[in-house]
Amino acid sequence: MPEPLRLIVVGAAGRMGSRVCALASADRRFRLAGRVLRSTPARRLREIVCDADAIVDFSAPAASLACAQAAAAARKAIVIGTTGWTPSQRLRLKALSRRAPILLSPNFSFGVNILYLLAKTASRLLPDHEAGVAELHHSLKKDAPSGTALALAAALGRGKVPIVSQRLGDAVGEHTLTLAGPSERLELTHRAHSRDVFALGALEAALWLRGKRPGLYAMKDLLGLA
Ligand code: NAD
Repeated sequence: MPEPLRLIVVGAAGRMGSRVCALASADRRFRLAGRVLRSTPARRLREIVCDADAIVDFSAPAASLACAQAAAAARKAIVIGTTGWTPSQRLRLKALSRRAPILLSPNFSFGVNILYLLAKTASRLLPDHEAGVAELHHSLKKDAPSGTALALAAALGRGKVPIVSQRLGDAVGEHTLTLAGPSERLELTHRAHSRDVFALGALEAALWLRGKRPGLYAMKDLLGLA
């Protein structure tokens, strides 16, 4: 077995970060080498990153960018699950990926990444059906529409697709694509039952990113769907 991957988790006290820490601690393929919290000073962040093989980040776009900057300076791999990016933040991340491997994904569930593929095929085969995306998340989620809903709409290759967002209760994440035509409606739905599906996907991504060349990667690269 290869040496355990020395992992730093950013946003470690959050809903996602705490599950990543728990699952990595219980898995011999990883050694949890550090937790980064909102209170962690920038200088300490740069030191911690130097001790890592890889970083997994579920925080907020500005914090993710600061971590990506530290990762790029130290040439360390970073997996980013944070959503809600502005176009200029995305451009800055893209520039940082020239110096280190970065895997950015709004959704680490394998099922959702297969859904994008099914959606693209269905949209191509039913070009005259009207398309719409609906998503449901817990009421504390900060961004709307979700990054996954935006990616699902983009996967259709149709330009602007209406997205309806609901923020209710403790829903982990549900996405439905509807293709509606005369006298019929096709619906493709993914439901996450637990945050562990995202945390486990992010950990697989960290292992996959080990030894990769600098660049901006996505889950479709890991899954061989690119
Ligand atoms: P959360 O609010 O529970 O956790 C975010 C954590 O980041 C908090 O503990 C906060 O203190 C911390 N944080 C904020 N600024 C920080 C900084 N500068 N340094 C270190 N930590 C900092 O939110 P969550 O539900 O865990 O979600 C986090 C992000 O991940 C959101 O953008 C969410 O949309 C996204 N998300 C992605 C996936 C995926 O599969 N890609 C799945 C679920 C959530």
